Amino acid sequence: MHSFHYQDGRLFCEETAMDELAARFGTPLYVYSRRTLLDHYRRLGAALAGLDHKICYAVKANSNLAVLNLLAREGAGFDIVSGGELFRVQRAGGEAGACTFAGVGKTAEEIGAALDAGIYCFNAESEAELEAIDAVARARGVMAPVALRVNPNVDAETHKYISTGKSENKFGIDFDRIEAAYERASKLANLELRGLQMHIGSQLTKVGPFEEAVRKVAPLAARLRDAYGIGFFSIGGGIGIIYQEALPSGRDDWWEGRPEGDGLLTLEAYAKRLVPLLKPLGMKILLEPGRMIAGNAGALVTRVLYTKKGTAKTFRIVDAGMGDLIRPALYQGHHEIVPVREPAGRGRVKADVVGPICETGDFFAQDVELPEMEDGDLLALMSAGAYGFVMASNYNSRPLPAEVLVDGDRADLVRARQSLEDLIAGERIPGEADAKA
Ligand SMILES: *Cc1c(COP(=O)(O)O)cnc(C)c1O
Repeated sequence: MHSFHYQDGRLFCEETAMDELAARFGTPLYVYSRRTLLDHYRRLGAALAGLDHKICYAVKANSNLAVLNLLAREGAGFDIVSGGELFRVQRAGGEAGACTFAGVGKTAEEIGAALDAGIYCFNAESEAELEAIDAVARARGVMAPVALRVNPNVDAETHKYISTGKSENKFGIDFDRIEAAYERASKLANLELRGLQMHIGSQLTKVGPFEEAVRKVAPLAARLRDAYGIGFFSIGGGIGIIYQEALPSGRDDWWEGRPEGDGLLTLEAYAKRLVPLLKPLGMKILLEPGRMIAGNAGALVTRVLYTKKGTAKTFRIVDAGMGDLIRPALYQGHHEIVPVREPAGRGRVKADVVGPICETGDFFAQDVELPEMEDGDLLALMSAGAYGFVMASNYNSRPLPAEVLVDGDRADLVRARQSLEDLIAGERIPGEADAKA
């Protein structure tokens, strides 16, 4: 379920009209629904109720402090990929002790900070990293909790840029070499082997690849449990969401109202196919969903600046660009584009929706049918709650957009729009006195 809907021709987030948000906070504007975030988190927990599990929200999907605080208060753990994300979790009121630390390139400083904070576990991605973690722990005279990430060589059947579980991807340790890596790790004096981890990719829309990976890796988890006493098995994130036609149909996610047996991912199918494979292990099962929780909980509101009619095409030039939402440019990500005010009785026109940035790749959609509209009208790019703001950049010296969290008829600014001064913070011209050091 998501909480974006039309009411009398106006697009609402929960009980708040999006045009009012745009008037109050300006555009481009990220709008998140508290209710949707909580609903998605709770729905996954409910589907897995029969399993000893912990949901570690993947912070990189949406790391706004307000979002992290909301999930921390629900009891979520966190999957982090940098020292910066650990800092955010702690500032948001989350516990370091509920954090797993993923990523192929942790620095010694990050490892040290995570050890000092007392994180739950490092998910190590190479043998060289194990040695680095051991060395940092030894220098501090402490034990470092570690799990190894196995690359199961399974095809996630998703976009190649977000596929992570094949041997040719940089992630994890090859399935054939993983037991030797545990053997070596067990000999490093300052490591405590605590678990096993995998994550085969993002935006999976079928249950098959998840099942194939768990079938392949569960016996390995059992062997490692017996050999080294590891207590958890993390099956990663990757649960896909619906990007097409979330509005106005009201359909939300793959896990909603789907017939069973078509192979498409539903939470019921996910639980039904995976729990029987996982439960007999008698281990704690960790999950690391990001997109599933935040993706359809957010939208990016943008204003049409100009309409340009060329010989080949009509362009709607909007005030958001690839600097605000890069998914379409980065991996052909699709976002449904809808009017914030549904025009009554007007026709539909084919157009490209493009941003202001000086790149040909700066478009959100090409040849989409949109209602006839006027310059100044508002559009919403749906399903922008995950991998949206977190990937935003200042390219073309454009300030980062604001973020708002909606709770019923209340809206809180949870990140102020950047100012022009923010754009140059930290820069200086050599030889000139640093005015505000
Ligand atoms: C990105 C990532 C996730 C989250 O992926 P989603 O598709 O957003 O669920 C989980 N685990 C790891 C290790 C990741 O890198």
